[in-house]
Amino acid sequence: YVGLPEQEAFDIEYWLLEEAKLQRMPKPKPLVGKVALVTGGAGGIGQAIARRMLAEGACVVLADIDQTALDAVTADLAKAHGKDHVRGVHCDVTSEASVIATYHRAALEFCGVDILVSNAGIASAAPLEDTSLELWNRNQSILATGYFLVGREAFRLMKAQGAGGSIVVIASKNGMVASNQATAYCAAKAAEIQLSRSFALEGAPLGIRSNVVNPDAVIRGSKIWTGKWSEERAAANKIGEQDLEAFYRDRSMLKRSVFPEDIAEATYFFAAEQLSAKSTGNILNVDAGNLAAFTR
Ligand code: NAD
Repeated sequence: YVGLPEQEAFDIEYWLLEEAKLQRMPKPKPLVGKVALVTGGAGGIGQAIARRMLAEGACVVLADIDQTALDAVTADLAKAHGKDHVRGVHCDVTSEASVIATYHRAALEFCGVDILVSNAGIASAAPLEDTSLELWNRNQSILATGYFLVGREAFRLMKAQGAGGSIVVIASKNGMVASNQATAYCAAKAAEIQLSRSFALEGAPLGIRSNVVNPDAVIRGSKIWTGKWSEERAAANKIGEQDLEAFYRDRSMLKRSVFPEDIAEATYFFAAEQLSAKSTGNILNVDAGNLAAFTR
């Protein structure tokens, strides 16, 4: 500080030291103080999403219809992240009363919901001519109606809270392109994507963002999804179930498999205001490039 008056030199030095101290201080996690509700939270992708949200400081409500799996996953996450940060709530996304009760519970436990991850789902495959009305209605009620109900209640609550929010819709590659023997599923997944755009449009003036994450086949072990869907997809593609991972990996542009943690990362991106404040009405395909071009 040659040439500076002593007091000014002292001030600059003091400021530099304070700045260095701030740099060394741990940065607050981006989701501290936020509450995330994850439907289908006891399933493969839902658990990975919940884990990611907890790691970034959020409190998480897992909402799922499978009480046994819900208890096990809630206990597991509470062990890893502290029981004050996780709640498991039994919820059937097809029932209006159950969805409303789930939000009441979340509001009671954690004073609100800032992030909704709409993820609860089923998988079903059938050739078009064997697609019964019952199968069609089941897909519509869990995927389309379920996503509508949890999204609408999130919207109402976030509006009342007056602090914006983020809705992340876990749809599917099959909401964008047709897949063999999955008519009912593809149609319902397309509805989810369109729902997200409507949430985005009406949410924008309130600071509520809504975005879609589209997984391609998500690999757990050698399986995609739960047992039966894996079998059916393998049969539809005329391969053995144990070959599914290689099948989906090899047909992708990047020659890489998609794992639940990849979906969790994309979801976290849309959940965190710091990362995606300017993104709404968007779709992020987590598909190793599968949707962009024919590679086989
Ligand atoms: P999963 O079967 O492991 O988990 C789904 C969860 O949803 C289960 O815990 C189940 O109990 C719950 N659920 C089902 N019906 C419900 C209802 N009525 N109310 C509340 N909860 C209900 O499946 P996953 O692989 O984790 O799939 C999660 C989401 O990802 C689904 O929406 C699915 O369409 C989507 N997805 C999955 C894949 C994949 O390959 N696994 C690919 C594309 C999209």
